[in-house]
Amino acid sequence: KDQDVQADMDPSKLTIKLADKLKAIPEPETLVFGQVMTDHMLVMNFDAESGWSAPVIQPYQPLQLDPASSCFQYCTNVFEGMKAYVGPDGEPRLFRPELNMARLQTSVGRVALPPINPEALLVLLKKLVSIEKRWIPKLPGYSLYIRPTVIGTRAALGVAASTSSMLYVILCPTGPYFPSGVSGISLLAESESVRSWPGGTGGYKLGLNYAPCFAPQRIAAKLGYMQILWLLGEDRRITEAGAMNFFVVVKRDDGDLDVLTPPLDGTILPGITRASVLALCEAHSPATPLPGLSPDLKLHIHERTITMPEVVQLHQSGRLTEAFCVGTAVIVAGVSRIGFEGKEVKFSMGSDNQQYVTAALANRLEAIQEGRFEWQGWS
Ligand code: PMP
Repeated sequence: KDQDVQADMDPSKLTIKLADKLKAIPEPETLVFGQVMTDHMLVMNFDAESGWSAPVIQPYQPLQLDPASSCFQYCTNVFEGMKAYVGPDGEPRLFRPELNMARLQTSVGRVALPPINPEALLVLLKKLVSIEKRWIPKLPGYSLYIRPTVIGTRAALGVAASTSSMLYVILCPTGPYFPSGVSGISLLAESESVRSWPGGTGGYKLGLNYAPCFAPQRIAAKLGYMQILWLLGEDRRITEAGAMNFFVVVKRDDGDLDVLTPPLDGTILPGITRASVLALCEAHSPATPLPGLSPDLKLHIHERTITMPEVVQLHQSGRLTEAFCVGTAVIVAGVSRIGFEGKEVKFSMGSDNQQYVTAALANRLEAIQEGRFEWQGWS
């Protein structure tokens, strides 16, 4: 039944109602992340009898929802985050969008919202992006952020799965996420409140994972840190940094480098940037070297538990050369310091090997996303 219902998400039934008056596009340099929305949005509704409604692209506008709606009461909210970039040919391009569609499918399933049709949604999303093409800033490091959202709209207070839902996609132009760019995120390692736990929902992109992070984030900001490094358990293992996946680079006895990141054990989001960074590290070789890295250097990747005490110890031994965070918004950004139990692990940016791997990955990934470097059909 679910399969039939999903199949009727049908791009051929799309209707497009364009806005009478288009907004003035702000100067890219003045953009604050997520504040200015484009002229149009994609909307579709689902109910158990008729499945997905015919999709509509319409002027960006407020939603009208019953106050008892499932999304307000029981947090049936899931979303995705992806970007469109302008290529050298002037055309918009997406970065591995089928992975976002697949992740959205797992997220809706986790909160018992109806399945989407990933291929159909991607067709519709591309149509919306091409209509909004003029909004993509043409500066390097700028893009159009895409926020597909699915919410439960069942208008009843009974604690149960939402039998109806709404899917919408909104867009906003965006520039570099952190004002300091790749030259240093400060992190406060936090073990008192936890973001996720074994068997929990940390591995899905659900709205309910984010709200409990705001109060601790506010405390971290007061203490002068940009983001929280979320820890879990007695051994204080690292999960994620803010809403980004976390990596460290460690010097080996044989002169190569180990690149470590926590495993996909259900407590971290399976980031698309994370997967891409791992693949790029793996591919670094004399045949396909990352820019600025010695082609003979081998990057050994390890998806394994990293604890905060281990980070402190590696730092003291002088073997910890870099830490960096990755995600759609930030792409790849180096960590300048980590506060932990009243002390600081500091990375002296710019000296020795610091930011060596971080910069290589950031350069390559941005070049792939912006269509300046072709790699495995990712863009
Ligand atoms: N972790 C969390 C909690 C996130 O919200 C995000 C952003 N989607 C990421 C990691 C990075 O994932 P991606 O590379 O797919 O953007």
